[in-house]
Amino acid sequence: MIASARHLTAACALWAALAACGTAPAPQAAQTARRPALAAPSRAPALAPVFAHGPRTRGRSVALTFDADMTADQGARAAAGERFDNPRLIAALRRLRVPATVFMTGRWAEEYPAQARAIGRHPLFEVANHSYSHYAFTDDCYGLPTLSRKRMRADVERAFAAFRKAGVRRTVPYFRFPGGCHDRRTLAALAPTGVTAVQWDVVSGDAFATDADAVARQVLDEVRPGSVVVMHCTRSAAPVTERAVRTIVPALRKRGYRFVKVSELIGAAARR
Ligand SMILES: [Zn+2]
Repeated sequence: MIASARHLTAACALWAALAACGTAPAPQAAQTARRPALAAPSRAPALAPVFAHGPRTRGRSVALTFDADMTADQGARAAAGERFDNPRLIAALRRLRVPATVFMTGRWAEEYPAQARAIGRHPLFEVANHSYSHYAFTDDCYGLPTLSRKRMRADVERAFAAFRKAGVRRTVPYFRFPGGCHDRRTLAALAPTGVTAVQWDVVSGDAFATDADAVARQVLDEVRPGSVVVMHCTRSAAPVTERAVRTIVPALRKRGYRFVKVSELIGAAARR
C-alpha cells in the first residue's frame, strides 16, 4: 500500500529523525507484491505474503497498529533521557479496552523489557515484529541505514529472540518493514522466516504531530471497514498519539466500528 505524499512527508520526518539523519533522500514508494498464484511456474521465488487491510465488509472492523520504534544506534539517546516508549498510550488503550497490534523493534524490547513483557502478556495486545534494528530493507528508505540482503533474515529473527528474552508471550508472525519499504527481493529474503508483511491503508500522521485533533481527524476521515491504521508508540517522535487515540476510539465506536487485532483481520481475509 502506498501512502499519499502528504502522509509520506510526516512519516519521512519520523523515520529520518529516528535514523538521526538530517539528509533523508526523497521517499521511495513502497512496493507491494503478492504471493505467487498457484499456477505460477514452480521456479518463481517464494515471497512473504503482504497484507494491507481486511475485507471491506459491512461488519465494521478496524485495526489500530502501533510501531514501537527504536533504532539500533539510539542507545546513547535513550541513556541521555530520550523516551522511545509511551506508557500512557498503552494505559489509555487498556482503559478504553482497545485491542491493538504493536509492531515492536527488538531494540525497543531490549530497552524496555518490563513494558515489552507487560504488552506481550496482556490479552488486549499482540506483539509483531518491526525488525531488530529499524534499518531499511531497501535502498533510499527515508535516510535509514540499509541492511544487506544477507542480514535481513537474521535481523527479523534477532527481534523475535529479543521478544523471547524479554518474556513477551503473545507474538504473532507478522512483520512491518521499517518505513514500509520493501520489494520482491526483500519479500523473497524473508519468505523462510514465515512472516506476513503487514502494511496499512490509513496513515495517522502522528509522526512529530503537535495537534492531536488533526491526527484524529485524519484517521476519522480515512478509516473504512477493514482498515489497518498505522500509529506510533514512542513519545519521542509521536507525542500526541495518546490524545488522538482518546478522540478516535469513541468516535469510531459511535460509527459502529469494532477494534480488532491484525490477526483477526488476517483471519477474516483468509476465510473469504
Ligand atoms: Zn518504524
